[in-house]
Amino acid sequence: MPYQLDRTEIQSLLDEIAGRMAGEVDRGEVANYIPELANISLNHFGIAVAPLDGPPLLAGDADLSFSIQSISKVFGLVVALDLVGATLWRRVGREPSGDPFNSIVQLEFERGKPRNPFINPGAIVVSDLILQNAENAKKMHSVLDFCRKLAEDPEISVDEAVFASEVATGNRNRALAFFMMAEGNIEGDPATVTEHYFRQCSIAMSCSQLAMATRFLAARGKGTADGKAGVSPERARRINALMMACGCYDPSGEVAFRVGLPCKSGVGGGIVAVAPGRGSVVAWSPGLDDKGNSVLALKALEEVALRLNWSVF
Ligand code: GLU
Repeated sequence: MPYQLDRTEIQSLLDEIAGRMAGEVDRGEVANYIPELANISLNHFGIAVAPLDGPPLLAGDADLSFSIQSISKVFGLVVALDLVGATLWRRVGREPSGDPFNSIVQLEFERGKPRNPFINPGAIVVSDLILQNAENAKKMHSVLDFCRKLAEDPEISVDEAVFASEVATGNRNRALAFFMMAEGNIEGDPATVTEHYFRQCSIAMSCSQLAMATRFLAARGKGTADGKAGVSPERARRINALMMACGCYDPSGEVAFRVGLPCKSGVGGGIVAVAPGRGSVVAWSPGLDDKGNSVLALKALEEVALRLNWSVF
């Protein structure tokens, strides 16, 4: 029997979860290796569900913007695949890393080919591909434009303070780019490539905007109603597969076990989950666990998947 979406049922679940999360004591720690990210209060919690049709359902701080960080790697990947197609996979793998997102040691063993596009070196190669292949005017703006189109919101923008903070402290990412250049896997200037990567990480969006911007992955690739943004069903299926295997850093397997949905998280505390054929879910709370996933967002997604019976398994 096709799934019957009951908006009232979902809304009351989201309200209940947001109410409970407000009282949670164990909220993790904010990321402080990017100094600007440390300025945010641990008390925030927001959640949004974007069903395949209609406006998103929201609770808590679902309308507050936060730094999407690694979630931008999904949008970057789509932009690069649009530009270069499957040749992208010559330069980036499709395996979970089992290592931290900014690991250098793995890259050395594997001769500069990142395990997947959702760890930092993989996303840096993706940025290189965008810069080498996009038309001049679009080079620095393509990922942001794509987010705006998908969310149908031209106001979405880069948080310049976070961007400046990443530029000031991002030497590890620059090291990854230089190392990959030495191995022949970065073609452009590593400083410009990492700047592009920092810019996309610094895009600020709310749970509500992110849920709308990722709903195409639940809708067999169908983005906006006018067809201006989106991907083929085949591509959506594959991006979901990568998110399931690699979207939440080295504990991606644990997240698949607990949530049972393709997910992508970022150190800003957001996590996107895709329920194919049903909708997208975004939860946000800035406190992270020791692997970089938001403690409360993960808990909330686990509960949504369980209570709505949305796990793909
Ligand atoms: N901009 C962050 C970094 O490069 C992204 C990390 C993340 O969200 O996983 O370290």
